[in-house]
Amino acid sequence: MENTEFKNFELPADVLDEIQHNIESIIESFDIPNTNKMEVIKKINFMYTQTKQMSVTDPLTRLFNRRHFENEFEREFKRAKRYDNGLSLAIIDIDFFKKINDTYGHSCGDFVLKEVAYIMKANFRQTDTLFRYGGEEFVVILTETSGLNAEIPLERLRKRIENNIFIFNNQKINVTVSIGVTSKTDFENYSEMFDNADKALYKAKNDGRNKCCLM
Ligand code: GH3
Ligand code: MG
Ligand code: MG
Repeated sequence: MENTEFKNFELPADVLDEIQHNIESIIESFDIPNTNKMEVIKKINFMYTQTKQMSVTDPLTRLFNRRHFENEFEREFKRAKRYDNGLSLAIIDIDFFKKINDTYGHSCGDFVLKEVAYIMKANFRQTDTLFRYGGEEFVVILTETSGLNAEIPLERLRKRIENNIFIFNNQKINVTVSIGVTSKTDFENYSEMFDNADKALYKAKNDGRNKCCLM
């Protein structure tokens, strides 16, 4: 993973467009009798919740997006340090994904991303949070979990993906992932913990891919 610098993200254009559209709809709705004011308030709340949801969601996989990850991970890192709780961070990267795109097409790549996300959702505890970090990279925050306890569900995920039959346009596609995981929290900040998980991922790739490496 190249860029591990955490930045403050601005709202993407499509989210801003949606907010603007929602505001316009709300203003239009004001031209209604007083008795229907509750309806208007309900509508505003609904639209706000929807917009908020959109701003933290990756539209392709329906997992949380990178912006949400930055906020959540910072908070969980601080909490783990403060209360000396276990915390693990895993980075999951699809192996040779470029080749899948190049061989079967971009829409097949998108299908694989969605399927991997679906397998991930069924694999972890409800207290673990899943994100699509970037292109073919996912991250998982495992709270109250460290070392081997993190390796168990991640190794299970690796095997499930390896054994899953991905079929796109009647063609069988082999998909594997490499996983880097760290449970160390003795860092200055969350960004250093992220970098350590990234180093573990790099090792998993160098050790031949389709591996889970704990560091
Ligand atoms: P490695 O095993 O070392 O991880 O190799 P790789 O091919 O998976 O890694 P690389 O970083 O070279 O390629 C990632 C590819 O992911 C390149 C890019 O075109 C593709 N990609 C990124 N985002 C999307 C997306 O949303 N949909 C699809 N279909 N492809 C994407
Ligand atoms: Mg990658
Ligand atoms: Mg990859």
